[in-house]
Amino acid sequence: MRAFIINKPRDAGLIELPKPVPAPGELLIRVKACGVCGTDLHIYEGEFPVPLPRVPGHEFSGEVVEVGEGVKDFSEGDRVAVDPNIHCDSCYYCRRGRFNYCVNWQGIGLNRHGAYAEYVTVPVKNVYRVPDGLSYEAAAFMEPLACCIHGVDRVRAAPGENVAIFGLGPIGLLHVQLARLSGASKIIGIDLVDERLSMAEKLGADLTVNAAKEDPVKAIKQATRGHGVDVVVEASGSLKAFSQAIKVLDNTGRMLVFGVAPEGAKVEVEPFEIYRREISIVGSFTNPLTNERALKLLASGAVKVSPLITHKVGLKDVLTVFQAMKARDKKLLKALVIP
Ligand SMILES: [Zn+2]
Ligand SMILES: [Zn+2]
Repeated sequence: MRAFIINKPRDAGLIELPKPVPAPGELLIRVKACGVCGTDLHIYEGEFPVPLPRVPGHEFSGEVVEVGEGVKDFSEGDRVAVDPNIHCDSCYYCRRGRFNYCVNWQGIGLNRHGAYAEYVTVPVKNVYRVPDGLSYEAAAFMEPLACCIHGVDRVRAAPGENVAIFGLGPIGLLHVQLARLSGASKIIGIDLVDERLSMAEKLGADLTVNAAKEDPVKAIKQATRGHGVDVVVEASGSLKAFSQAIKVLDNTGRMLVFGVAPEGAKVEVEPFEIYRREISIVGSFTNPLTNERALKLLASGAVKVSPLITHKVGLKDVLTVFQAMKARDKKLLKALVIP
């Protein structure tokens, strides 16, 4: 089969690999669509510690073409989406239901081969049935959307609250839609790219701020009668945005740290402010137990992903997408690999 493989940092391309064979308890999936994620670029750049060579690709859907020994619930021809996070079910964290902290964690497309390939094998417990009528392309968003849902659960956005979202890439644009579904009274989107701001408006933002042109703290305070917002989602990973995000929180406000800042990077936080204003700062990591909800939101049309798909490429063109991501191509939101 054909696959896109990262051999070593900044050395990647097409390769012929033997078609994988499903082990007991596994399925062989013919990949139909796989999202390109910032993590894939980090692996290519050598900034994300996974053993190389590696076939990346962890946001995907496909068709079951072969079932391994002992698999009962799925058969050939089933349409599925895959959660890439394999947990062991028996470690300290798994026994507490905190699967995203499994000490024996494995990631499809991270420390085992992923879906930038014609075929991939996956454990049956990682597979979710794609509802009728939902396309493979939309189903490939199950994983990132499930991560966003976990974030919303963590920050407990309630009806009637106002929400600011910093960073309007594909993740921020999913958060805009989830904020609308949580019953937000006012959604404010912040980014540096006008194209993304107008997309956020189409998907439910009431107000957008281009932080390259105006001070988002001032603009958000102005739009909320000086109070600030109840909930802020930091989805950019930028340290500057992080500092601004804390400043726009109303008293008792909650901040979700969703964007990935470089490990070791620091920002100044004033403990007095957290104390005096009862501010909460919560993190959110991956997607424990939220995949079914993601698929249902996609199938009902409550969350729209087709406007986010700006590029579809074959395996031979993955590198051009990486280049576009690096160059911060304004037209690029989400690219899908269609093997
Ligand atoms: Zn991802
Ligand atoms: Zn575990």
